[in-house]
Amino acid sequence: MTDSHETHDHHLFSTTRFEDLDLHQDLLQGIRDLGFEKLTRVQDEVLPISLEGRDVVAQAQTGSGKTAAYLLTAYQRLMTELRSEASEGNPRCLIITPTRELAVQVSRDAEGLGAHTGLRVHVVFGGLDYKKQRAVLSEGVDILVGTPGRLIDYHQQGAYSLRHTEVVIIDECDRLFDMGFAEDLRWLLHRLPHPRDRQTLMFTATLSRRVTSIGWREMDDPAEIVIDREQLTPETIHQELYHVAAHEKFSLLLGLLKREGEGRTMIFVNTRVAARRLVEDLERNGYRARGLTGNVEQIRRLRVLDQFRDGDLPILVATDVASRGLHIDGVSHVINYDLPQDPEDYVHRIGRTARVGAQGKAFSLACDDYIYSLDAIQKYIGYDIPVVFADDDLYLQPVPRMRSSRPSRDRGPSSSRRNPSSSRRGEREDSRPRRRRRRRPSTQKKKDGEKKSSSD
Ligand code: AMP
Repeated sequence: MTDSHETHDHHLFSTTRFEDLDLHQDLLQGIRDLGFEKLTRVQDEVLPISLEGRDVVAQAQTGSGKTAAYLLTAYQRLMTELRSEASEGNPRCLIITPTRELAVQVSRDAEGLGAHTGLRVHVVFGGLDYKKQRAVLSEGVDILVGTPGRLIDYHQQGAYSLRHTEVVIIDECDRLFDMGFAEDLRWLLHRLPHPRDRQTLMFTATLSRRVTSIGWREMDDPAEIVIDREQLTPETIHQELYHVAAHEKFSLLLGLLKREGEGRTMIFVNTRVAARRLVEDLERNGYRARGLTGNVEQIRRLRVLDQFRDGDLPILVATDVASRGLHIDGVSHVINYDLPQDPEDYVHRIGRTARVGAQGKAFSLACDDYIYSLDAIQKYIGYDIPVVFADDDLYLQPVPRMRSSRPSRDRGPSSSRRNPSSSRRGEREDSRPRRRRRRRPSTQKKKDGEKKSSSD
């Protein structure tokens, strides 16, 4: 372990061990199986309060161990309190997440931690297996994880009831709002027992006023836990900023990929079109890459994620909506091929690397199209990203694109320069500026993060 690794460990982990907590033996067994020993700081701050049954609002990033913090709270309660007869068959714990990928991951984590508890975890989300998910739900479930649209849909069909739910977890609350789920969230919360008769835990990367207002209205005197801001960009992430002309970005990317050698690299772009084009360009230049964007069919997205996670796929090209909140261990490099337009996304993106104590590198290419967001990013993180000057030999000549009959696909990286607005209009994936107000939950099935398939 390097010095900085130790420093980061020190920053991320507390000195408390899971054995020090009065957790149910079956849970301790699950924790041991996963190899967890010490609590992360978030866990150390949240668990003593949440295990007492108190509501908590915690500002915590993905990568801080927040999922285990709330899952352990829920499991401990479910293991130590008897299920009421009235709740038979219905979820005792509800976990609401903004995206289907996060829902799947949370349910995986729950299955891991709860492997010895005998409790049933079920996940529901749009896009896949409509009837199958419903059938499993009807068989009875202890912990229900889902995205708002599907949760509401099944609830409206009477597939389950929330009247006796004991623990409610709202994960990535800020992102739920950003994705336009505010009304859905309220709809679900109003079908649950009164805040005083349930435990509510809320996790969010930012404590905006919208987020805290939910805390006051829908929770019972919650404890507020804020992890300090330096944690937003862990110091084990080596950051570099390159100023580059838009038409030379791809050459520089090739140089960086070559210089860095083998690794597991996430490349972020701002639009689906850019993601598709970049995957094509990378493949033409001999790199195996796949895209992770909101429009890709659900089953393919999960497959691509698995391949990347398992180390079979070295490069994932992602947009923000598709990648928020994913736990992918061992990401060695994050490359902001497009600088994000929202400063929070910079933190989320580079947080994909250096997860739980590991080290990683984050390179950002500041081109003429997206440079305007740099000031806001640096203001938000509280420091200037170190600028690195790229020597000429870091720019590699790409294999030229073939002329094709599909002109829109055939534009080089310089196309955005010729017509800078074209890449920003149209297929922008970040949902924030396009927030839509929707009136009724039942009309909210088709959306970027959670699209129902035609088979639904
Ligand atoms: P999260 O912040 O919930 O996204 O967690 C990020 C990663 O940290 C997941 O892969 C967890 O399995 C892992 N993790 C959570 N808590 C601990 C812990 N106490 N020790 C080691 N790894 C952990």
